[in-house]
Amino acid sequence: MSGSKRLIEAPLGIFGGTFDPIHNGHIFPILEAAEIAKIDKIALTPCYVPTHKSAATASSEHRLNMAKILCEEYPIFYPEPLDINRNKPTYSIDTLSELNAKFPNTPLCFFIGTDSLVNIFEWHNWERLFELCHFIVCQRESDDIKQVLNSKTHNEQLQILLQQRQVNDPLSLHQSLAGNIFVANTTPLTISSSTIRKMLTNGNSVEKWLPSSINQYIQQHKLYQQAGKIC
Ligand code: ATP
Repeated sequence: MSGSKRLIEAPLGIFGGTFDPIHNGHIFPILEAAEIAKIDKIALTPCYVPTHKSAATASSEHRLNMAKILCEEYPIFYPEPLDINRNKPTYSIDTLSELNAKFPNTPLCFFIGTDSLVNIFEWHNWERLFELCHFIVCQRESDDIKQVLNSKTHNEQLQILLQQRQVNDPLSLHQSLAGNIFVANTTPLTISSSTIRKMLTNGNSVEKWLPSSINQYIQQHKLYQQAGKIC
């Protein structure tokens, strides 16, 4: 960068997950946080096989198809199959390295829920993640942001990380390529994929928790009907 100021482009959001299936708790908090942080493009990246929990129930193909359907409905998202195409267990560090190589002047803003923030020290190569992206944290349960920020039950390492990296102005994320955490005070939506899978297995209605297009896909392909059955 021989003395000249690097031109920073508009940030790109990244939202990765198992999405088994994708649900309203994935969609609305992220849309709300994206609006607060003025991010208008988000790569939706279903992971190949989760490394931090048991394997997905629906195949990569079904989970990617559901992500594609969602992107048609909410065009701020675009489907990014790079994790699935890598064909090996997903580490966010690989996803971010690939996107950083593709978009070297673009701040990458990784959206996560508070539960993921609390577990961040378990992520593969977590320190390096802060050289590659910013994090935007969405509230998952009512008041959980306050608990993370204030409670003594959360570990000291997290408090120190937040002291070092938290920014209050989301526009700071537009001004540097990586390294910050922005906690977006989004409206909590208490739902998870595992709850939805259980409801489907028990024959309960899940329409309140998913876009109807995703529910239709699930019904059409008879996903999640039998407990523990990979589909
Ligand atoms: P499971 O119940 O199978 O563990 P999940 O619902 O937690 O799945 P994932 O696909 O594992 O969904 O989550 C991907 C990302 O979405 C994570 O960063 C997680 O914190 C975030 N997330 C999931 N559900 C919510 C929610 N209701 N509110 C805010 N963030 C969420």
